[in-house]
Amino acid sequence: MILPRRILAMHTAPVRRASSVPAGMVSFVPACSTTDAHSLELLQDFVSRARRLFVISGAGLSTESGIPDYRSEGVGLYARTDRRPMQYAEFVRSAKSRQRYWARNFLGWPQFSTHQPNSAHKALQRWEERGKLHWLVTQNVDALHSKAGQKRLTELHGCSHRVMCLGCGAISAREELQTRFVALNPDWRAQTGSVAPDGDVFIEDEQVLHFRVPSCEQCGGILKPEVTFFGDSVNKATVQFVHDRLGESDAVLVAGSSLQVYSGYRFLLAARDQKISVAILNIGPTRADHLAELKVSGRCGEVLSVIQPL
Ligand SMILES: [Zn+2]
Repeated sequence: MILPRRILAMHTAPVRRASSVPAGMVSFVPACSTTDAHSLELLQDFVSRARRLFVISGAGLSTESGIPDYRSEGVGLYARTDRRPMQYAEFVRSAKSRQRYWARNFLGWPQFSTHQPNSAHKALQRWEERGKLHWLVTQNVDALHSKAGQKRLTELHGCSHRVMCLGCGAISAREELQTRFVALNPDWRAQTGSVAPDGDVFIEDEQVLHFRVPSCEQCGGILKPEVTFFGDSVNKATVQFVHDRLGESDAVLVAGSSLQVYSGYRFLLAARDQKISVAILNIGPTRADHLAELKVSGRCGEVLSVIQPL
């Protein structure tokens, strides 16, 4: 393969170290040595060959924006805490659980909602602009792809910036709900802890008891983030839509996901069945490593920003 000049230049550029990740964000990005030049060359070749690239992104893309993931060794929430995400059945069944969930979510929102896209989100948006990226499906609920301006995007697990009513299905902005929380709880205070990937904050149960949760303004129904909780299933029409976009694609790139959750992994199985080639960029092993022709270990922001959508 003859490399374009700018790729060759990249190989001789000074090696970037972990310290290039902004201060304060380091703690959520798993340890990883700098991606070697040969891997970058292979990934560039993979992207260059693709005419209609399908990208699946996961939590590893957002850790560089300061949002912790669940599963990363040592730094993910599973490793650092004994908390586990809200289960769908529990949320629907228990008013107390909803109260606890929303109290924490209310506290976490001011910080969670201000996270900004990093160089990985921006790179994928440029790939879309240049006609390289056919479709992007994300497992993230942090809205960072849409904040980066991504249009050809499916948020597979919903988005924490939207709220839905379980009664009438009305969708509203999470920001509006924050105003309602403040109005209903003018004197409520709690100490906040760390923020989870979905905006949840860890606080003690006693602090939650007096928190008041609003219901749907239209029908009085239960409000839930428009996010797929654990134990919930992804909308069938959404899954079919993504399968259709995958069927139009000629290559799949996984960026920042271990693909442990089936809702994302199923698209890798479909890619295998349709003989669509797969590359994976992630720190650590993934469930689909055996399905990939190329596996690159590295930070999404560092790697994607040097790959050109040629
Ligand atoms: Zn309603």
